[in-house]
Amino acid sequence: VKQIVIVGSGLAGYTLAREFRKLDSSSSLTLITTDDGSFYSKPMLSNALAKNKSAADLPSATAEKMAQDLDARIITHTHVEHIDAKAHHVVTAQETLTYDKLVLALGAQPILLPIEGDAAQNMLTVNDLDDYARFRQAIESVEHVAIIGPGLIGCEFANDLCSAGYKVSVIGPDEMPLGRLLPTEVGTRVKQALQQQGVDWYLETVVQRIDTQQNERLRLTLANGESVITDVVLSAIGLRPNTVLATTASLRVERGIVVDQHLTTSDADIYALGDCAEVAGLVLPYVMPIMQAARALAKTLAGEATKVRYPAMPVVVKTPAMPLVVSPPAPNVKGEWRIEASETGVRARYLDSNDALLGFVLAGDAVQEKQSLSKSLPAVLD
Ligand SMILES: Cc1cc2nc3c(=O)[nH]c(=O)nc-3n(C[C@H](O)[C@H](O)[C@H](O)COP(=O)(O)OP(=O)(O)OC[C@H]3O[C@@H](n4cnc5c(N)ncnc54)[C@H](O)[C@@H]3O)c2cc1C
Repeated sequence: VKQIVIVGSGLAGYTLAREFRKLDSSSSLTLITTDDGSFYSKPMLSNALAKNKSAADLPSATAEKMAQDLDARIITHTHVEHIDAKAHHVVTAQETLTYDKLVLALGAQPILLPIEGDAAQNMLTVNDLDDYARFRQAIESVEHVAIIGPGLIGCEFANDLCSAGYKVSVIGPDEMPLGRLLPTEVGTRVKQALQQQGVDWYLETVVQRIDTQQNERLRLTLANGESVITDVVLSAIGLRPNTVLATTASLRVERGIVVDQHLTTSDADIYALGDCAEVAGLVLPYVMPIMQAARALAKTLAGEATKVRYPAMPVVVKTPAMPLVVSPPAPNVKGEWRIEASETGVRARYLDSNDALLGFVLAGDAVQEKQSLSKSLPAVLD
């Protein structure tokens, strides 16, 4: 009987455990997590207000229920401090566990900008249920939320907060919201649509200071000289893979924990997947790549070595003010945007010189073309 230990009980850890149990019901399976181990869908954090769900409503199963369903031991509220790869040991404050195969599903940390001011430490981030509970408490009886970061997560929160009646300001250095994912024409539409919902944009500038004002309000001082008075500041500028634990095991780390297409780290008995992993050079912090990786790794752990393959994986952006589906071209490919716009939507295709489709962005009613266009996209990892 093999002993499998998974560190992390997010979508990556739990999806892997579930897929593995479909193939192997006899190996011992242990999951360790710093949180309470309840199962929830993280993407719901940025549209829970519109769905009228509180932090407590989001989990669909407790750790006890997951342990039962998965026939696994789930160790909650426990931080793995160290891995001894040679001895095959995982060390927590309470115990040392032995593994045959270890999986790191550690997720990522929100990046925080070094901002000045006496209230800079009041900045909130939302990357898990506990963060979300704190955020909901902070916005309970206030009017205005400022969001730092006009990217995917920032825009989703902006839309969600507007739909719940909050005043929202979004600040960031980009020229357009979702600037790194969209051609300008589509960015303009998203900007206008969210503006109509009530978003005030402060683009092409950054926050320099956050200071307390009277009445418990906060003043953001921007690099362009403007200021924004708000009640709550939410930072959403991106994530950095959790790699510290991998470093303690002397595993190879670059942007994320480096793994090959078998999800194997530089140690043959340690694997990694999800937001913490850099899979064949790709850091893709989304649900679809996690599903693909979990299925492949489950097979490998059950004895059938299997490479992860990524088909095209368009991301649905949860901005109902302007529905969006994005499948950005790979960074190393050459092509041009061809954009067809109507009153009600935009279809932007990124085509190479032979008119082969390399990426797309669909906005408004064009999102219905997601399936048909996805079929023509090249695989992300074959
Ligand atoms: C607001 C928001 C909205 C999103 N919306 C979408 C979307 O619409 N579509 C999409 O595709 N993706 C979306 N994403 C991204 C997606 O949710 C993530 O890619 C995914 O949930 C990551 O799962 P994970 O298991 O890799 O990491 P996590 O869920 O972060 O899990 C990490 C786990 O590791 C544990 N851990 C870490 N270090 C240790 C340690 N040392 N010891 C013990 N345990 C440890 C943590 O406790 C946790 O259990 C969204 C993300 C956010 C934040």
